[in-house]
Amino acid sequence: MSYTPENNRYEEMKYRYAGHSGLQLPELSLGLWHNFGTDADDKVTSDIICKAFDKGITHFDLANNYGPEPGSAEKRFGKIVKHLLSSYRDEMLVSTKAGYLMWPGPYGDFGSRKYIISSCDQSLKRLGLDYVDIFYHHRPDPKTPLEETMGALAQLVRQGKALYVGISNYHAADALRAKKILDELGCPCILNQVRYSILDRWTEDDHLLDAMDNQIGMICFSPLAQGLLTSRYLDGTIPSGSRASQNRFLKSDKITPEMVVMLNQLNAIARKRGQTLSEMAISWLLKDARVTSVLIGASSVAQLEDNLQAVGNSRPFTKDELAEIDRLTK
Ligand code: NDP
Repeated sequence: MSYTPENNRYEEMKYRYAGHSGLQLPELSLGLWHNFGTDADDKVTSDIICKAFDKGITHFDLANNYGPEPGSAEKRFGKIVKHLLSSYRDEMLVSTKAGYLMWPGPYGDFGSRKYIISSCDQSLKRLGLDYVDIFYHHRPDPKTPLEETMGALAQLVRQGKALYVGISNYHAADALRAKKILDELGCPCILNQVRYSILDRWTEDDHLLDAMDNQIGMICFSPLAQGLLTSRYLDGTIPSGSRASQNRFLKSDKITPEMVVMLNQLNAIARKRGQTLSEMAISWLLKDARVTSVLIGASSVAQLEDNLQAVGNSRPFTKDELAEIDRLTK
């Protein structure tokens, strides 16, 4: 199989700077948490990556443990890059992370220097890359001094294994502490990757965007609430092969009659706006210029294409639309 990217791949996508850095991310980034593991289909997965690249999605997000099996998404992505995209490496942003359990014993989890450095080395091997563009600490570690974890991130940059560093799942107070330490090490924290969607507002309760004050960019994961904010479950059934049917990270008991009513009410607002529910969910996040990128997942090219409609096509939300969305979901 060979692949030649579209010549017009940068025409429609819009890009936003990550915090105070010079690095621009596409408004829509693609994550490989699901759908890219050992059992995934070679053609479907390479088609999704190539379609994304054709449409200006330059940023692909991984973590050491994405699969299943842990590590298999990095391996699969590495193969796709090697066979189809190796000439375009300089046009791509590849990120990975460490912070969750990856291997047994005391050195394969959380935030020690020992774990961070060896996990990054393992990720680079699986990816078949010399460096990643962004390396994240995946979640706060209550026991390891933040100075040690941030020091390990800065060390990766000094070693040339990562170009930029970020944090993930950090609340405002810890994010600001991490930023201060990294600033002192001359290695700015450019992104905080956090869960944020119409259905999940913890970052608003935490005043995270205000606290980060545009100095650390925000990249929002699970913007479609793992598929709830799409057409997937609007008729109240659970399609085979859907994430809810796997009953692991999106539990099937989330699809209650009340949830289905609410999703249909949100869908009605989207329809009036001339959007699908997933498009509206993405536009709703992008309406805040302080959001650097919205990090979606997709199990097919069709889903990706649907979600791409949100870029550039969205008319501003009216006050009434925003109030109605809040009334339904808060
Ligand atoms: P989403 O909320 O975008 O959910 C993606 C899922 O929604 C797809 O797999 C698909 O599910 C469904 N879907 C997407 N688009 C459509 C559509 N147009 N129509 C119908 N169904 C659709 O994001 P994810 O939860 O997948 O997270 C995205 C990325 O964020 C991850 O890949 C990862 O990179 C990152 N992430 C980071 C975390 C962290 O701790 N830092 C934690 C979690 C995610 P289906 O399989 O049912 O088709």
